[in-house]
Amino acid sequence: MARIITLADGRSIEVDCLSCALTSGLIQPTGGVIYESSRFHIHQDVAYPIRGLVILASKRHFYCMDELSDEEQVEYISLIHRIRSAQRTKLGIEKVYYFYNEDTTHHFHLWMVPRYEWMSQYGKSVESLRPVLLHARNNLNDEENMRSVIEGINKLKGFFKNEP
Ligand SMILES: [Zn+2]
Repeated sequence: MARIITLADGRSIEVDCLSCALTSGLIQPTGGVIYESSRFHIHQDVAYPIRGLVILASKRHFYCMDELSDEEQVEYISLIHRIRSAQRTKLGIEKVYYFYNEDTTHHFHLWMVPRYEWMSQYGKSVESLRPVLLHARNNLNDEENMRSVIEGINKLKGFFKNEP
């Protein structure tokens, strides 16, 4: 299903898949690309301003786990491992929730959502995920938190560039 999106420079374009537009570089994510290879693309969706939240998306357009090629399978788990290490060593994140659904309106992508103390008010496990994301989108989009989120993105970028 095609949708109209507005670029940062004000132009409107029609895209069939938002993930394709993002991973191909047509759309720049706010805060920039954390890391990309020929097969995968790592960024944060700042519409949900949670420090250390990471989205790992394939560049190829597909939906299901059993569609990953042999090379993609190997790189996928390696990247999840590296992102998780980056979240721990650079941002001190102790626990992460992973979310991935195959009936997405985008294409293949994994959410890695850090678990913070304030989130426990919304319960645990899957049922807390949506209220947590909504709380972040509606109440954490202030300037100070956004700065912290962007700083987090930069620290994660540094991990992938092997910065101390
Ligand atoms: Zn796509």
